[in-house]
Amino acid sequence: MSASEKIEFSKSVNVKYNVDVFIAGGGPSGLAAGITAARHGASVFIAEAHSCFGGMGTAGLVPWFCHLKDSVNFLADGIGREVHDSMKAEMGSTWMIDPEVLKRIYDRMVKNSGADFSFYTKLVDVVKEGQFIKYAICSAKSGVFAVKAKLFIDCTGDGDLSAMAGAEYKKGDENGTMMPVTLCSQWCNIDPSIQDSDNVDWAKRVDQHGPLQKAIDDGVFSQPDLHLPGMVFPGHGIGGANIGHVFDVDGTDERSITRGLIDGRKLALEYEAYYKNYIKGFKDIHLVATASLLGVRETRRIMGDYILDLNDFKKRACFEDEIGRFSYPVDIHPPKADKESFKKFEEEFHSLRYAHGESYGIPYRSLTVKGFDNLFVAGRCVSTDRYMQSSIRVMPGCFITGQAVGLASALASKGKGVTREVNVKELQTALRKMGAFLP
Ligand SMILES: Cc1cc2nc3c(=O)[nH]c(=O)nc-3n(C[C@H](O)[C@H](O)[C@H](O)COP(=O)(O)OP(=O)(O)OC[C@H]3O[C@@H](n4cnc5c(N)ncnc54)[C@H](O)[C@@H]3O)c2cc1C
Repeated sequence: MSASEKIEFSKSVNVKYNVDVFIAGGGPSGLAAGITAARHGASVFIAEAHSCFGGMGTAGLVPWFCHLKDSVNFLADGIGREVHDSMKAEMGSTWMIDPEVLKRIYDRMVKNSGADFSFYTKLVDVVKEGQFIKYAICSAKSGVFAVKAKLFIDCTGDGDLSAMAGAEYKKGDENGTMMPVTLCSQWCNIDPSIQDSDNVDWAKRVDQHGPLQKAIDDGVFSQPDLHLPGMVFPGHGIGGANIGHVFDVDGTDERSITRGLIDGRKLALEYEAYYKNYIKGFKDIHLVATASLLGVRETRRIMGDYILDLNDFKKRACFEDEIGRFSYPVDIHPPKADKESFKKFEEEFHSLRYAHGESYGIPYRSLTVKGFDNLFVAGRCVSTDRYMQSSIRVMPGCFITGQAVGLASALASKGKGVTREVNVKELQTALRKMGAFLP
């Protein structure tokens, strides 16, 4: 590999789609944006690089939804409630994910909305003029093509679209250190009496953490990682697992992602030994699959017209222009597998959380990208500091920001396509009409 050599590369490509709204990424934020924009009359094209909608919650095998409600209010109402109701009807669970069922739910919701899309279609560049993005350049099986649009929404999780356009972003802490990644996994042959229900009693669940220190001392693990999010048990002897951290991975660098995947697959065997030998009911456990998408918690945070920060969390902020409210705690996974880092994580996770019914507002301005007139961001890479990113990044938060920018782009596309010209009161009224929690 020659790192210093550079070449000029130019190519004429067909404009394959001419739409009101282009969306890069079809995870929870992208699908919520696409469905909402299409239902409000916009023509939409979603480019999804992987093989399905859902991002981390399907291809990434993230096994459960964090809370859609704050125990009093349905915060992710709108698209989140539709997903919740479909899951209840088709899986019998509103929080544990059967990824195959969820893929079909998402396929149906997006198809029925009228949004156009294709899988294995990756955004690779943008063409811009001043503060306006004009075209998205995509690469797919048929070759490279352009999508012309009035509005562009970055739902890539990593802020790819915004970064390609030259938007300002921050990554990780002051040293650039980011949360570790996890390759989620699915397991079978667990004692079928170990089963979670929709109204799970957390105090009565099988203890997955008790013997962890002993197993570390016994040399079961290659690193002394005390942070074990754990498995859920939807029935049929199946376990959906968010277990094992790989440290120092940069989700915007394919070499680093490659190492994350390989190390994640190796780690799964260590956890197999742990569950088999240390926890009752798991002696026959068998690994079915690790995810095809690496579980990246944190990369770029795209800077918008407002940056949500820890102070907003602490004061349960309210904003004139809020498009929703959310309440998940601060959840910054420790950057190292040592006791001190784990202690800091535990302190933050248990102190920076809300009582029932409390929440913070999400301002529209945290979704409009600084320096651009027709670019929105939604999902895990919205404009926040690290503390807020670790809260808003969970899937219900992504439904909230996704549906807001979907609706805002449908409104903006009726005019000049400028994000800041959207009448926020009109947006809030339309969001309320679709159920959004806006007290
Ligand atoms: C290990 C792990 C465990 C988690 N656990 C939970 C949990 O228990 N509960 C919970 O609610 N949340 C959890 N989360 C958080 C949550 O899953 C993600 O933060 C959330 O899915 C982010 O949604 P998103 O739409 O921003 O991005 P993603 O879900 O990451 O989706 C982004 C999509 O964009 C596509 N894409 C990326 N780049 C491009 C491109 N250039 N062109 C086209 N498409 C592109 C990807 O293929 C992907 O489908 C977890 C996250 C991780 C990593």
